[in-house]
Amino acid sequence: MYSTGSIEELRAAIKAEKLKGKTIGFVPTMGALHEGHLSLVELSRKNCDYTVMSIFVNKIQFNDPGDYAKYPRVPDADLALARNAGVDLVFTPNDEVMYKNPLAFVDVEYLDEELCGAHRPGHFKGVCTVVSKFFNIVQPDIAVFGQKDIQQVIIIEKMVRDLNFPVSIIVAPIIRDADGLAKSSRNIHLSPSERKRALSIHESLQHTAQMIGNGEKNPAVLIEAAADYINRHGTPDSIDYISFVDYNTLHNTDSMQEKSVLAVAAYFGKTRLIDNMIITNGDTITCII
Ligand code: AMP
Repeated sequence: MYSTGSIEELRAAIKAEKLKGKTIGFVPTMGALHEGHLSLVELSRKNCDYTVMSIFVNKIQFNDPGDYAKYPRVPDADLALARNAGVDLVFTPNDEVMYKNPLAFVDVEYLDEELCGAHRPGHFKGVCTVVSKFFNIVQPDIAVFGQKDIQQVIIIEKMVRDLNFPVSIIVAPIIRDADGLAKSSRNIHLSPSERKRALSIHESLQHTAQMIGNGEKNPAVLIEAAADYINRHGTPDSIDYISFVDYNTLHNTDSMQEKSVLAVAAYFGKTRLIDNMIITNGDTITCII
């Protein structure tokens, strides 16, 4: 495995692989790697010949400087995990390489006003800008993103369509700890009791999936049930949202759409956790948690 922080070196390495006829898969991350990230690598390797991972804590997507400062950074452990997972090339640029007094940014309108966007102003502009830069630097055939950050997936899919990026987006399932908590680099900030309470998020999704399985189709009833479950079993410090939205518009909806999302964001202590379930409504209803 080769790693570099230089755009020129990265481009040269990728060009050499493309000349050999290899397809390029790309996995963007902010590091503090866990099995969730590594599952993205596995998908990239299944779909492409050569996998590039970026590890970059993207300052411009943090609306809270405190959150940026305390974001976990473990470069040596990350490189070891990436190597073991079969990543071919790791891109580790610093702030100066990525941002020299930038004036150009990428924004996807409207979709960034919902869910997390409503609580984290500027976050998705930062995400779209860095992902666009990476797409231009790496020029991958495919890029893998996790369902865990479902609004990010939906916004990136729209950005790729609207701006004609020649890249296919693959969405990877949510990887969880054995007890159901979605793996996240932020989980290390949870105290043991906060972590236990945080399980209520995943359990509330399972609970509502069961209700859907039993025929419940009313979003208001499902939201109410999820909120009630989290409040009773998890007593979160605060809830940013529990929303049932149309997958395509991210607008709240009062009926089950062809593809809908039940999404949750809540604080346990000072740690903000997100989780979600995709509900597809075709011949049968399927819940993807
Ligand atoms: P991050 O390093 O948090 O920016 O995440 C990098 C990528 O890993 C994003 O596409 C995330 O959606 C994905 N990811 C994070 N956590 C998980 C998880 N538990 N399961 C699957 N993918 C994940």
